[in-house]
Amino acid sequence: MIYFVTPTYPRPEQTPELIRQAHTLMHVPRIHWIVADDKYKCSRHVLGILRRSGLPYTHIASPKPNMKKVPEWLVPRGVSNRRAALDWIRQFVTEGVIYFGDDDNTVDLELFDEIRTTKGLSMFPVGLIKEYGVSSPVVRDGKVVGFFESWTYNRKFPVDMAGFALNVKSLNPTATMPYKVGFIENEFLKESGFDIENIEPLANNCTKVLVWHTKTEKNTPRILKGNLKAMANSRYQNLGKLLQELQKMDVLKVTPRNGTEAAVKLYHRDRKSFLFLADMV
Ligand code: UDP
Ligand code: MN
Repeated sequence: MIYFVTPTYPRPEQTPELIRQAHTLMHVPRIHWIVADDKYKCSRHVLGILRRSGLPYTHIASPKPNMKKVPEWLVPRGVSNRRAALDWIRQFVTEGVIYFGDDDNTVDLELFDEIRTTKGLSMFPVGLIKEYGVSSPVVRDGKVVGFFESWTYNRKFPVDMAGFALNVKSLNPTATMPYKVGFIENEFLKESGFDIENIEPLANNCTKVLVWHTKTEKNTPRILKGNLKAMANSRYQNLGKLLQELQKMDVLKVTPRNGTEAAVKLYHRDRKSFLFLADMV
């Protein structure tokens, strides 16, 4: 069994990212998807995606600590929720392979055949990482002897979260992930007590990219001026329902007070007119 751990957080791109990841995992046998929400409560629309996937899943929530005074680039991403997933695995799982797959990465189906045989710690290249365009172990005579990675500073294991897998049996009972940008993977692997000599190189001795660090353009949640309740009771009920759905998914927000003056273009026989959302009562 592969335990595919996906940290995720509310934002406009969340639903499309998770749908895409679900559709990849639906091709994979013996996979258990652990989706860890960066929230106080598991979100309903995420749960909906999990249910419809038909995959065996665990849905847990664990929000990041309050770091409002810290600049955004210093807030580590997906730590609290990955930690919660590790706790869950420690409590309920005795065998299998753990892989950390972010919601926005692109995974080749071949990756799963590769990582499934991981005995301790395996590693492999990740495409689209920083300045070099790839991050990969360097292999000599079948052994990992170094790393090709543009940012190695003070890191024994200069690897991306998507570039390794480990066997549940090698999961150290106390190893955790730190709230420290850039050092999450390194500290976790160090605390786990892994050695460079024992890393199992995969993807044909690290000659193939089977996972990509794709990034999706960030959208700011749109604020539209209007009243959802009034829209639900108006003649244009579908629009009320549609926007309510998208509001639940954190794509947009409809409020009576401020926001974009959004309008509907209406046709009545040969006459065209515009109706503002805010005027739908
Ligand atoms: N993530 C999270 N909470 C956050 C930011 C990110 O749970 O506040 C998750 C995100 O959904 C993704 C992973 O952590 O699965 C890595 O985040 P992101 O893709 O934004 O980071 P990057 O790829 O740019 O390093
Ligand atoms: Mn990412």
